[in-house]
Amino acid sequence: MKPLSDGTIPPEGSVYWIALKQFDEAADILNLDDGMRDLLRHPKRELTVTFPVCMDDDSLRMFTGYRVHHNTVRGPTKGGIRYHPIVNLDEIRALAMWMTWKCAVVNIPYGGAKGGVIVDPDELSIHELQRLTRRFATEISILMGPEGDIPAPDVNTNQQTMAWIMDTYSMHKGYSVPAVVTGKPIEIGGSMGRLSATGRGVMITTREALKMRGKTFSDVTVAVQGFGNVGSVAAEIMSAEGATIVAVSDASGGIANPKGLDITALKSHVVQNKLLKGFPGGDAITNEELLTYKCDVLAPCALENQITSKIADRVQASFVAEGANGPTTPEADIILEDKGVFIVPDILCNAGGVTSSYFEWVQDLQSFFWTVEEIDERLERILVEAFHQVMAGAEKRKVGKRMAAQCLGIKRVADATTARGIYP
Ligand code: GLU
Repeated sequence: MKPLSDGTIPPEGSVYWIALKQFDEAADILNLDDGMRDLLRHPKRELTVTFPVCMDDDSLRMFTGYRVHHNTVRGPTKGGIRYHPIVNLDEIRALAMWMTWKCAVVNIPYGGAKGGVIVDPDELSIHELQRLTRRFATEISILMGPEGDIPAPDVNTNQQTMAWIMDTYSMHKGYSVPAVVTGKPIEIGGSMGRLSATGRGVMITTREALKMRGKTFSDVTVAVQGFGNVGSVAAEIMSAEGATIVAVSDASGGIANPKGLDITALKSHVVQNKLLKGFPGGDAITNEELLTYKCDVLAPCALENQITSKIADRVQASFVAEGANGPTTPEADIILEDKGVFIVPDILCNAGGVTSSYFEWVQDLQSFFWTVEEIDERLERILVEAFHQVMAGAEKRKVGKRMAAQCLGIKRVADATTARGIYP
């Protein structure tokens, strides 16, 4: 792999290495010239912050966080903020790059960004979490703004986190700025449908994939990895569409029942117990067993690098719907493609989230709000169109669906770069 401008190559197999490898492959297919390649494979700017938080026992604890803007050519940067112990700068760089391609795949006027704090939020009280969020928001406020960079929820962050960020930013400004973040509660400028949009998008793109193979949700069984913002909603909506959800999992492990799980009961179990563990309506399985469970659709909706080559060999599903960002490694990709598995790639499959974030931002800027019907109709239209553009690209270029999605996104960003020209 060609080194980055600082002479380094990310460790082989890391998420950033994977994102760059995918980019290089797409750039070859698109025949991008060397200058354009170099420009697009580097993040535009990155900020590392180290900041103190007062803990409940009055002690002081230092935290590290990041915000990376990968590309701003097509508009302000957009992307979530995650709280997780394994957050690191290279991971955030990769996720920011994927956000750039994702926004371009669904053709919304944004560049890509990502942020994160190294923290296990389960170890903090709600007050500590609030102070951490407000301080982190203040630290990255030099990059944030409704016209510059608009964060959103990601792994382990939610509506409440976004409300604190919106409030913090607004307090500094002296007036309310709802458009500075998306994924907010409805009461402060959130959008109808935002909470369920990523899961809904997983359903829509999977439904289109099933259609291409002459199937509907009533014909299939589904296993979902992850029961957070994305997985729990995807399971619920696919189940409502007629699918039999045979397995789900979270960080505590999985639950399986070949006859189907009661998703409503599962959700209330999680509300009460925080974790899936102990749910009586199925058998306990490990996360690895979930990925190789007998089902038609496997929906990894948790973290990166889950379907490795070791797992891919044993995947029984004929569709993989990537609700998570980067859940499949490049080696696993080849194995799945060879087995004829229909991959609905991440930057298409989970793009419902950022698409509805775009709706939220537009509504906030106009102070004029849409009905849930308008939101759902627009989401449906954008995702179906993007899905078929990706499929047409795969057909035309004779490449897999992931490469087709990457090519579609990268080409749109490259064309926008050419149209703007290089300054000065
Ligand atoms: N975190 C989500 C993603 O990875 C949503 C980002 C956004 O809405 O800005 O796509």
